[in-house]
Amino acid sequence: MDGACVEVCPVDCIYSKPGDTQLFINPDECIDCAACEPVCPENAIFDEDDVPDDQQEFIKLNYDYDYDSSEPGANA
Ligand code: SF4
Repeated sequence: MDGACVEVCPVDCIYSKPGDTQLFINPDECIDCAACEPVCPENAIFDEDDVPDDQQEFIKLNYDYDYDSSEPGANA
């Protein structure tokens, strides 16, 4: 994982824990500033309303992720 998004997020709402294969954005904490989108080398971050049809499943993954057992940042 690159983690560039973690560095630019002003509210530390991008999480992971050891063993994760991706980072997760907590939708309850994200302020929709879009700072993370251009720095992602995988072009994997979208506004929720702009997620491509073939990546819609990631919306639920980010909503359902267990943020209480994780820490902000690239911890994998
Ligand atoms: S859009 Fe959300 S996740 Fe991305 S940098 Fe802004 S607050 Fe953080």
